[in-house]
Amino acid sequence: MDDAHIEGDLTRVLYSAEDVARRVTEIAAEIDEAYRGKDLLLIGVLNGAVMVMADLSRAMKIHCEMDWMAISSYGSGTQSSGVVRILKDLNTDISGRHVLVVEDIIDTGLTLSYLISNLRSREPASLEIMTMFRKPEAQKNMVKVKYVGFDIPNEFVVGYGLDYAGHYRNLTSVGTLSPHVYS
Ligand code: 5GP
Ligand code: MG
Ligand code: MG
Repeated sequence: MDDAHIEGDLTRVLYSAEDVARRVTEIAAEIDEAYRGKDLLLIGVLNGAVMVMADLSRAMKIHCEMDWMAISSYGSGTQSSGVVRILKDLNTDISGRHVLVVEDIIDTGLTLSYLISNLRSREPASLEIMTMFRKPEAQKNMVKVKYVGFDIPNEFVVGYGLDYAGHYRNLTSVGTLSPHVYS
């Protein structure tokens, strides 16, 4: 494989672009069913959720609005810092709205529990979570996630919006990086 091609940096592909697309379509159908006739606002968490937000929302057939939040959790490495800051807040007042938070991945759930309590204080009519990937740690957490793309092993993955040091978000498949990338 060509070294200049990002896919060549993966040691293992966990999910192909087709696997991801199929699962996103299934979840979109569930969301269509659950929110039919409701005033739905999707909140994407930047930057990782950009890809899933774009695909999920277009796989849905019901009306929705979209807004975005940016929070910081990880730095450029692979360890959770536990520090959460709002870098960009919503443009929308969510009080009385049916809100579905769209996430790329939940690891410890630290970032999400902070976000959810923050959003809950704004008194939405309902507040649910969709995440494309979820790691085992998150199960111990109190945050209830309604829609999960895939439960994955406790490994650092990239692709489909997920980065390592800002790179690999544009990879259409999802997998683990080869050790040479880290060194
Ligand atoms: P948590 O607070 O749940 O531990 O971490 C959530 C955030 O950490 C995610 O939104 C994502 O930015 C980052 N993260 C957690 N696990 C991974 C991973 O396996 N790969 C990548 N690229 N980012 C991850
Ligand atoms: Mg995220
Ligand atoms: Mg990141």
